[in-house]
Amino acid sequence: MDFEIPDETRMLVDTVRRFVDAELVPLEAEVERTGVLRPELARAVHEKSRALGLYAMNIPTEHGGGGLDAVQMCLVEEQAGRTKDILIRRAFGNVYEVLLACDAAQRERWLLPAVRGERTCSIAITEPGAGSDAAAIATRATPDGDGWRLTGHKHFISDGAFSDFFVVSAVTDPEAGPRGISLFLVDKDQPGFTVGRDQPMMGLAGTSHVELYFDDVRLGPQCLLGERGRGLRLVLSTISRIRLAHIGARAVGAATRLLELMTEQARERRQFGQPIGDFQMVQQHLADSAMEIAAARLMVLEAAAVLDRGGDARTRISMVKVYAAETYGRVADRAIQLYGGMGYCKDSPVERFYRDSRVYRIYDGTSEIHRTLVARGLLAHGVGAALAV
Ligand SMILES: Cc1cc2nc3c(=O)[nH]c(=O)nc-3n(C[C@H](O)[C@H](O)[C@H](O)COP(=O)(O)OP(=O)(O)OC[C@H]3O[C@@H](n4cnc5c(N)ncnc54)[C@H](O)[C@@H]3O)c2cc1C
Repeated sequence: MDFEIPDETRMLVDTVRRFVDAELVPLEAEVERTGVLRPELARAVHEKSRALGLYAMNIPTEHGGGGLDAVQMCLVEEQAGRTKDILIRRAFGNVYEVLLACDAAQRERWLLPAVRGERTCSIAITEPGAGSDAAAIATRATPDGDGWRLTGHKHFISDGAFSDFFVVSAVTDPEAGPRGISLFLVDKDQPGFTVGRDQPMMGLAGTSHVELYFDDVRLGPQCLLGERGRGLRLVLSTISRIRLAHIGARAVGAATRLLELMTEQARERRQFGQPIGDFQMVQQHLADSAMEIAAARLMVLEAAAVLDRGGDARTRISMVKVYAAETYGRVADRAIQLYGGMGYCKDSPVERFYRDSRVYRIYDGTSEIHRTLVARGLLAHGVGAALAV
């Protein structure tokens, strides 16, 4: 394993770090207080990020993106994780790799405007009756002439109130089970499509999570993304990269920022006439957090390196999803404890991390599901194959 990070990548990571700390972190308190990112601030963040070339960094350069590989993307996402979900979305975009399955005509209508930041996108898989079991969806796309008619209901769709179009999973061939699910590109302004209520969440202030209703929405043939019946496989491969970069790497970044805050607080807060950092039980919070963050970080980078070499990183990514998410949760809990009453108070910078961290163990596959996948990988392929680098 090569741990050398090229100078060019290091400079990019430094730029992202400076951008996050200077432009995004100062906006956090207002978003937490009001629950929204004002449109003029969202626009300003977006424009500054684009000017620095930091938008859609995951998309290949031939489509106008940044062309970063998985390791580079994880290093960048680690810095993004220092701030809030909504600020990351507006600054760096929701340009999911699943859009690379667009054909030439679809590219002009959906992928390229998304890369340019003119249109935004959400992925809509989950339904009230189908969460962990993503193959159990009830949304149906029925052939209609040369196109389709879409009927169904999705929920918890991140950033859905803001998005212009959605990648939606639907059953096209009910008798084919998981191989009967396809993906569709659905514009928000289609007759019969309603964006429902924003479902209030414990954390992630500023990001919407909405219900979607499709009532006999007419879709043209150009709305089918990828091959008919291959939708679940296609979207899961995108989600696998999301798990690694958006969850694994961001969790490492968030936990690192917390550790910085904890270390500062341990130096500055004095009780019994000395800094609380002099007390061994406080030191243990710092030391355990540092060790776990370092381990999670290596796991992220190792899985990314396997992906970049074209290897099968599925078991590793499930391990990362569980370990990085749970590390972030443990560090956030310790941060509250180390800050004492101030940690529980909304005036402190650490309180919101505690709430925001909780969902990392739930979305994009719960910890239980990913532990099951890790065990299945080991049982099916053996320890050596599952953990090969
Ligand atoms: C803030 C937020 C944002 C989200 N954003 C999106 C989005 O943009 N797009 C989208 O499509 N979805 C999104 N989701 C949905 C998310 O991915 C699901 O919530 C998640 O996959 C879990 O599904 P569920 O909530 O239905 O829980 P369930 O599947 O009902 O699980 C309930 C419990 O049962 C356990 N369980 C279920 N099956 C098993 C099993 N086989 N073995 C062991 N335990 C099991 C789970 O681990 C969990 O503890 C979002 C959710 C949240 C909370």
